[in-house]
Amino acid sequence: MKIVMLGPQGSGKGTYSSRLSPILGIPQISSGDIMREEIAKESPLGIKVKEYMDKGILVPDDIVIQIIKDRLKKPDCEKGFIFDGFPRTLNQARELEKITKIDVVIYLDVPEWILLKRLGSRVSCEKCKEIYNLINIKPKREGICDKCGGRLIQREDETPEAIKKRLKEYEENTQPLIDYYKSKGILKTVKCYKFETPPEEKVEEIAAILRGLK
Ligand code: AMP
Repeated sequence: MKIVMLGPQGSGKGTYSSRLSPILGIPQISSGDIMREEIAKESPLGIKVKEYMDKGILVPDDIVIQIIKDRLKKPDCEKGFIFDGFPRTLNQARELEKITKIDVVIYLDVPEWILLKRLGSRVSCEKCKEIYNLINIKPKREGICDKCGGRLIQREDETPEAIKKRLKEYEENTQPLIDYYKSKGILKTVKCYKFETPPEEKVEEIAAILRGLK
């Protein structure tokens, strides 16, 4: 199944995708994670995208689309995938249609106060990218990833200023995708109105929606 997780920063796209991936047996593809890895490697691509990402503004479509095209060529995508953070503009969505056909878009509808609270307290594993929240999804040992023992770090674009910019950017560029996919009849909305809801509960809700589509 080919799935897009749609929602603002902090809505849970990464958290739910990483849990759904082993359940569904398909990879999570996070455009942000791929580019952060390139930055860490100091590759030519990483150097190109760093200035955009540090500022919390979108990386140009042509660069992102090429990254996605390359990723989809890998054999683990044969049975499907979960896109997390892609597409982020109408142009990316249209380009994606030329490459492959998306089966369902899960839209995470989350109020802004929850996004701000989560983003301000989010840390993620340097190695495996697992996401934690120091308020309600805490690691067992402080600063250490439960899954792989990697170091937990705060992202450079999660300063209050960059967060504000990223949310505004979402409103302007990505929010139109809700109507776009609604008009195609493949949008499923998952409401997340409580801060404390454990991720497993939402993952089960999404898995049930996906089972209903088969
Ligand atoms: P994320 O990890 O999804 O929050 O993305 C972090 C940053 O990576 C964004 O603020 C953008 O600079 C860049 N980025 C990730 N995915 C995309 C995309 N699909 N299109 C453009 N920029 C992206």
